[in-house]
Amino acid sequence: MKKLQNFNYHGHTFRCGHADSTMSDEDFVREFINKGFKKISFTDHCPHKDGTDDRRVMRMAYNQKDEYLKSIEKLKEKYSGIIEIETGFEIEYRPGKEEDLLELKNESDRIVLGQHFILGKYNELIRFRYHDFTDEELLTYAKYLDMAMEKHIPDLVAHPDLYMINRESFGDIEAKVAHIICSSAEKHNIPLEINLTEAFLYLSNMKNRVYYPCKEFWEIASNYNIKVVYSIDAHYKEQIRMYEECIEFVNNLIGKDIIEKFNFIENIGE
Ligand SMILES: [Zn+2]
Ligand SMILES: [Zn+2]
Repeated sequence: MKKLQNFNYHGHTFRCGHADSTMSDEDFVREFINKGFKKISFTDHCPHKDGTDDRRVMRMAYNQKDEYLKSIEKLKEKYSGIIEIETGFEIEYRPGKEEDLLELKNESDRIVLGQHFILGKYNELIRFRYHDFTDEELLTYAKYLDMAMEKHIPDLVAHPDLYMINRESFGDIEAKVAHIICSSAEKHNIPLEINLTEAFLYLSNMKNRVYYPCKEFWEIASNYNIKVVYSIDAHYKEQIRMYEECIEFVNNLIGKDIIEKFNFIENIGE
């Protein structure tokens, strides 16, 4: 039996406006330590310098960025020797905004690409969950991920199969999107994430269906030479406390035969 992954590269803070507002950054660190984690990254939803998406329920304001980074840097020092802590951001690729994204990359330790929208003709947000995605828009999603990876902006691609929240079934176009993403990840050697959020919501009776991880997506992924990692995508302490159950759940969902084929990133410091 493989040992439980003891690091987490994807987590949030109260600043994004939709994580547990009663949790301090340090509270999250303590929860991770209690679970035996050896390394964690804070990758809160990045602020948009140009205000493309300025919803306070989605991301911090640009003027909160320095305070955020300082807070995590302080914890990094305080807990050194106990747990390794990284600063970071969860970003969305936006064509033409590469400089802003690279600036965030320079300022932090880890960039996670969590693409929640594409941009329309007038730079408006076309968001998953709120819009029906045409096949063409779905391909644009895949193209954004490919472009971001090609430019080596992210260190990790979060929930690459998030697009399934807008689809009823997995057909040719959904498979095509999966192939574009997986071949880009292989080519540019960027790991893909199995996200545990929906498993957590399902197991906590807050959701009655799990769209991602999507079994068919990961079946396709298992035929590529890519690195894979689990992420808690922590917004609540309960997600950390239910870590084992969530992993067990997604392993069963994807299928243990497929899980065994993956090249998981190795544990830290063992
Ligand atoms: Zn979030
Ligand atoms: Zn996230």
